[in-house]
Amino acid sequence: MTVNLLDLDAQGLVEFVTGAGQKPFRARQLLHWLHQGCVGEFAQMTDLAREFRDMLERDAVIRAPAVVSDSTAADGTRKWLLQVGTANAIETVFIPETDRGTLCISTQAGCALDCGFCSTGKQGFNRNLGLGEIIGQLWWAERTLRADACAAGDAQPGRMISNVVFMGMGEPLLNFDNVVSALRLMLDDHAYGLSRRRVTVSTSGIVPFIDRLAEACPVSLAVSLHAPTDALRDRIMPINRKYPLRDLMAACRRYLRHSPRDSIMFEYVMLAGVNDRDEDAQALVALLRDIPCKVNLIPFNPFPAADFARSSRDTIRHFAEQLTAAGLIATTRKTRGDDIDAACGQLAGRIEDRTRRVERLVRRESARVAGVPQ
Ligand code: SF4
Repeated sequence: MTVNLLDLDAQGLVEFVTGAGQKPFRARQLLHWLHQGCVGEFAQMTDLAREFRDMLERDAVIRAPAVVSDSTAADGTRKWLLQVGTANAIETVFIPETDRGTLCISTQAGCALDCGFCSTGKQGFNRNLGLGEIIGQLWWAERTLRADACAAGDAQPGRMISNVVFMGMGEPLLNFDNVVSALRLMLDDHAYGLSRRRVTVSTSGIVPFIDRLAEACPVSLAVSLHAPTDALRDRIMPINRKYPLRDLMAACRRYLRHSPRDSIMFEYVMLAGVNDRDEDAQALVALLRDIPCKVNLIPFNPFPAADFARSSRDTIRHFAEQLTAAGLIATTRKTRGDDIDAACGQLAGRIEDRTRRVERLVRRESARVAGVPQ
């Protein structure tokens, strides 16, 4: 059976090479080529013995999710829509800045958590991504960006992606094992060698898995908060009914004992008239008063069929001022890639709508051809 090497973590590579009768050190060589060199052809792995490369050509592949579309916004934000099986597409977004390059990756096709303001949540849950589909997003993006830099005249481009955020489609902590395996590859000095501080997992607040992440692979933590009270959060984020704010805040405090950063990032999408009033700002201050944190205010990105509207610029500024006056650190996220729908779930949502419609049509047509009454 052919093995996709991107589906294997460091230990999996050892088992693969030793199972093929090779010495374990070959796994380290493969790790370098795959995840440091982002090489996609065995012929380029020049320090591997000829018969080992022949075995790889026969029994292995290096396969990242296929690219459905590749678009670049006027501000340089680049977005890939990637195919992960029939009718499933995910998004990966690269955000270039002067001092860093950040890749936003997905961990599930769709999402089960149904946050009211989220385009991905409206699509429902399809499935968890495998390790190869998660790490494959980083592999593909790094490889593509390096190739582009070479084509632009940079003979030896260095690392293009310095930061990874798990903020694309899906709830990362509900695909825990594959996410942790991907994190370990990202941090491994023989692979991508990223700093723990520069890899951020964002969760809607799956409390038991916040604790498990602290033990298994502590990286920077972001929490999609979006509401300062249980009453409001219950309404816009159903997961809050299972893990209410008191439990979530306690988990955040516990996480800080393990975190590579001394604060948690709380994300707060600004929804006009819903969570952006003065009383919401005061409730947020009270909630976060004794937890080291930063608050990132995110202007809502409307999508078709959204029930919410974006808070005005003045409202967001006033909200931020109230947090700052109370001693919190508050920033407002720049909206990036508006012209290519780079907000969570938007482009994949459109594809999904279309594929579902096509599936329905195919079912109806099959039934018609088979003579089943409609
Ligand atoms: S905001 Fe995150 S957790 Fe909530 S539905 Fe969207 S993808 Fe899922």
